[in-house]
Amino acid sequence: MTRDPRYDVLFEPVRIGPVTARNRFYQVPHCNGMGRTHPTAMAVMRGIKAEGGWAVVCTEQCDIHPTSETTREIRLWDDRDIPSLARMTEQVHEHGGLAGIELTHMGYHAYNVTSREVPMAPSATPAYGILPQQAREMDISDIADYRRWHRAAARRSKEAGFDIIVVYAGHDLSLLMHFLSPRTNRRTDEYGGSVENRARLLREVIEDTKQEVGDSCGVAVRVAVDELLGEAGITSDREGRAVLDLLGELPDLWDINVSEWHNDSQTSRFSEEGFQEAYISFAKQHTSKPVVGVGRYTSPDHMVSLINKGVFDMIGAARPSIADPFLPKKIEEGRLDDIRECIGCNICVASDMHSAPIRCTQNPTMGEEWRRDWHPERITPKDTDDRVLVVGAGPAGLEAAMSLGRRGYDVMLAEAGTELGGRVARECRLPGLSAWGRVRDYRTGQLNKLANVGIYLDSAMTAESVLETGCSLVAVAGGATWRRDGTGRSHVIPIPGLDDGNVFTPDDVMGDAPITGPVVVFDDDHYYMGGVTAEKLRSQGLQVTLVTPMAEASAWTVYTLELDRIQKRLLEAGVEILGSHTLSGIGGNEVETACVHTGRIRRLACASVVLVTGRDPDDMLFDTLTGDPDALVAAGIRRLTRIGDALAPGTIAAAIWSGHRFARELGERLPDGPTYRYELPALAEPI
Ligand code: ADP
Ligand code: SF4
Repeated sequence: MTRDPRYDVLFEPVRIGPVTARNRFYQVPHCNGMGRTHPTAMAVMRGIKAEGGWAVVCTEQCDIHPTSETTREIRLWDDRDIPSLARMTEQVHEHGGLAGIELTHMGYHAYNVTSREVPMAPSATPAYGILPQQAREMDISDIADYRRWHRAAARRSKEAGFDIIVVYAGHDLSLLMHFLSPRTNRRTDEYGGSVENRARLLREVIEDTKQEVGDSCGVAVRVAVDELLGEAGITSDREGRAVLDLLGELPDLWDINVSEWHNDSQTSRFSEEGFQEAYISFAKQHTSKPVVGVGRYTSPDHMVSLINKGVFDMIGAARPSIADPFLPKKIEEGRLDDIRECIGCNICVASDMHSAPIRCTQNPTMGEEWRRDWHPERITPKDTDDRVLVVGAGPAGLEAAMSLGRRGYDVMLAEAGTELGGRVARECRLPGLSAWGRVRDYRTGQLNKLANVGIYLDSAMTAESVLETGCSLVAVAGGATWRRDGTGRSHVIPIPGLDDGNVFTPDDVMGDAPITGPVVVFDDDHYYMGGVTAEKLRSQGLQVTLVTPMAEASAWTVYTLELDRIQKRLLEAGVEILGSHTLSGIGGNEVETACVHTGRIRRLACASVVLVTGRDPDDMLFDTLTGDPDALVAAGIRRLTRIGDALAPGTIAAAIWSGHRFARELGERLPDGPTYRYELPALAEPI
């Protein structure tokens, strides 16, 4: 296939100071939970982005000094940190990309729980979040120290082979942004007050970096031009424009976005592709240097219009490059149907928050490139003669069938329902989740190209019909159903009074069961389902109270950066949230709730209850089949496996990963030792 000439503009080279990007695709810095504890995994993951066509591939934030210390991110504190980062630049260079590094000192945002150094800030202030610690105000000698540390880190970056040094003033994760924002800078010296003064340190650090490495490295600035806090913080009309006017010609590239991370990485539930444009599209009028921006861009037409309208010179991406590291290559080769579009769910963010190697709903190979040898675009051809039956076409079944098909296996995909997608097909009809349909659409599109995969809709498989297929490998991917008895985290035995009430589950809500108000939604799941169920019922005009044992609705979404937006949306819609309460009984036209701290009882009048608690794996088929091992042998079935929610209900990401793993490993039993490669700690000199 050849590229559509409409997209030629995306493949023009861009000069970034002394270096040249081969096209306009720029992978902006992004966290990945691997950092300095998994350097080889990080290096190979970044190298694959370059292989997939990203002209610039950046690291995540890199700490420059022990006064700015995170537990997991990469660092350049001294020369010993150079080799592990050189491993990444080698991988990126091998595939023709430019490697960028984002240097930072996190200021008051640095917890320093290991180093025990006191955090520093432009003005004395409580440390970020709820840490019982204050950051101290930097004096002039501190500022000089910081500039020296930054210079040294830039020099080490060059030694590690980086082509672009990113001076970081974004996400509230950088001293440079703390100096810029009136919210965090209350100084009265030459570094405080006017915008010019607040931008002074940024100017100095750009100049230092240019002097130190500018002969051979491009110097980029990543800056937050709006904090979405109105006058209290940085605004694009005030600081954003002023910074570009004052410093516009100083660096070799501007990478501009909004702060903080939860504003920059909004999920699809709360924002569309290109949601930042209102805040950042002014930039190119204020500088002649290349401008990069992000906005979850996956549409090549949208990208072309951004370049042609003069909004950006390069298309920045973190999440779209995670969901599809080969996005640029696929556009270049005219394979638009093959693009695996990001669904904007932020499971990638959540893994970083858990200090775990990055994972992605759409791309099960993300984070597994080195440790399991999983390449996003290549999979080993089949090495057995098995015919494979996959029962159930939810995310797990679709992924398994697609990946097995790519390996060349003869596959039967049997689905009881009349549409593909399982839970995704249902959930993407819930408020705000339509982009999640991409999980189904991508896989359905790919399956349609595979002649060796037969898809059978309206085919509820029984043990007898499974035995008749003649398949030698069987994966049961029948999913799970929401429990109707309220058991889950808070209740190990059913909630009393279930038979007296009008009791429903999210499956009923998604099936548009007739539910009357007032409704109590009991959320003991804590991810999106409780909140989204309440939102849907409220949009039908019902009075809704969400009861949860946690302090806030959808508490786990703190890891996907959605917690605050979910509370706001629910409260503004008129949903009552009763936090720190469990549901202790149901009966007649009311429910009984109990405070999780005091046990104090409250009664709420309601006509219906929706229980968002545990889920039951649909494993009856599996149990029936395993109950008759002789029949399996007689039918020629050599291995029977459960995958996805049928094995253990979890996220869509986990189901897809499980399906992918089955396709790679064919359900082999776990070895006694490690199941993947990992880095061993390097011992210090002998004691
Ligand atoms: P997962 O997230 O693990 O992929 P889902 O619940 O999304 O699970 O999808 C499971 C799919 O399996 C559903 O579409 C369901 O209709 C289908 N299914 C369940 N049992 C059977 C069966 N016995 N035969 C065929 N399809 C089944
Ligand atoms: Fe996109 Fe979700 Fe993958 Fe993150 S985890 S890259 S948001 S699909």
